[in-house]
Amino acid sequence: MAKRPKVVIIGGGFGGLWAAKALANKPVDVMLIDRKNHHVFQPLLYQVATAVLSPGEIASPIRRILHYAKNIEVILGEVVGFDKENQKVLLDDGSRVDFDHLIVAAGARHAYFGNDHWETWAPGLKTIEDAVDIRRRIFLAFELAERKAALTGEHDPLNFVVIGGGPTGVELAGAIADIARQALKNDFKAIDTTKARVMLFEGSDRVLGTFDSDLSESAKEQLESLGVEVHLNSFVTEIEPGRVKAGDKWVDCEVVLWATGVAASPLGKLLEVETDRAGRVFVEPDLSIPNEKNIFVIGDMASIKQENGDPVPGVSPAAMQMGTATAKNILADIKGKERTNFKYVDKGSMATIGRSKAIAHVFGMKFRGFIAWMLWLFLHVFFLIGFRNKLYVLAEWFWAYLTRERSARLITGDALELRDALVFMGGEEAGRVLDELHKKDRGQPSPK
Ligand SMILES: Cc1cc2nc3c(=O)[nH]c(=O)nc-3n(C[C@H](O)[C@H](O)[C@H](O)COP(=O)(O)OP(=O)(O)OC[C@H]3O[C@@H](n4cnc5c(N)ncnc54)[C@H](O)[C@@H]3O)c2cc1C
Repeated sequence: MAKRPKVVIIGGGFGGLWAAKALANKPVDVMLIDRKNHHVFQPLLYQVATAVLSPGEIASPIRRILHYAKNIEVILGEVVGFDKENQKVLLDDGSRVDFDHLIVAAGARHAYFGNDHWETWAPGLKTIEDAVDIRRRIFLAFELAERKAALTGEHDPLNFVVIGGGPTGVELAGAIADIARQALKNDFKAIDTTKARVMLFEGSDRVLGTFDSDLSESAKEQLESLGVEVHLNSFVTEIEPGRVKAGDKWVDCEVVLWATGVAASPLGKLLEVETDRAGRVFVEPDLSIPNEKNIFVIGDMASIKQENGDPVPGVSPAAMQMGTATAKNILADIKGKERTNFKYVDKGSMATIGRSKAIAHVFGMKFRGFIAWMLWLFLHVFFLIGFRNKLYVLAEWFWAYLTRERSARLITGDALELRDALVFMGGEEAGRVLDELHKKDRGQPSPK
């Protein structure tokens, strides 16, 4: 019997998973490699970071999602390079995996524009571990203020800074304001949580800059109605323990969150093809890389233009569409048929700001406030993977809507170590401890 073509997929995010689904039970052998055992529904990560949802409600084991596909093997492993000439993928333990077709869908992380050391003080949100780290910082800040106020009668002002006015920054700022003004206000005795300041710094002249300006303006007003201080045209140029510099002013803050800048997976550069400044690979119209028709780069790692000249955005529908399109082209190759060029279908966009607050531009129509928020809720539950997750998330949202409660308000991990780092140590020592905690959370060894 003739050997079936082998397709290797790197990444079980939106791009890789949708490619795998389209190849399920088709005449190919598929191996999907991911360094995590789970697919994360990233659009709801901020709800884990702000304690509405628990990690298990927005993540599912990749193996479980694809269990019905007899031809797909899922492997836990970190890809560290390629041997293009011999058609092999290199794993961190030295293993080499053969492929006939390769789909690289390893996504992106946040970029600190050459200031990687800022990550210790201003974490970004990309993984479940990031979300749990951010949740810990937010709730620990309230605990430490309460402790200080209870023991000494006073505490430092509770200031939260969010850097970046894109969808993640807006969601985080709105949610923290809601936590301070509503969810916690009756639970603390010595501090008034409603006095916490939430500041959003955005370098351009509007938040949610990819939306039309009237929707951006509405988002800003909705944020302000939640109590968020929105600072436009404000670039953050320095981050130090306990303070950030925006423009020429230093602002004291307990918690800083980074919600700007994107850097594609370094795997793009390892393919030795041209990339843009963010490390995205310039792909051909069929999403293959130049001169290698059997290697495809998709999702947040790919740089490609739409028919109107705009870049295809780094959003989940684009990654899903690229995954499906690539799988179809591989199957077309096998059948000896022509490939089809990728065409992004933009179904619109939406962003949530807080309870009953959102903006949406879908089906050519614009929505603000409650209707936009309902649309956002409906779509996110619809696309969430797994019936159990949909049910749990709906139940959590209903409960949170009725009670304003955030049921996942846990400070997990080494809260005391973190407290020591933040409160009792000087800047450098605190940086070292935070760095170690950070690495421990991501399963990386701590520096000796
Ligand atoms: C906080 C946040 C909120 C978002 N909100 C929205 C939203 O509301 N709407 C929207 O449309 N989009 C949203 N996005 C963007 C959307 O999630 C991405 O565009 C989408 O996930 C890209 O899919 P991908 O497959 O390219 O990468 P990802 O989904 O990031 O998947 C990459 C996968 O590759 C794996 N991986 C990476 N490196 C390696 C390696 N070396 N070896 C093995 N495996 C590896 C990772 O573990 C991961 O599973 C959001 C993103 C974030 C971070």
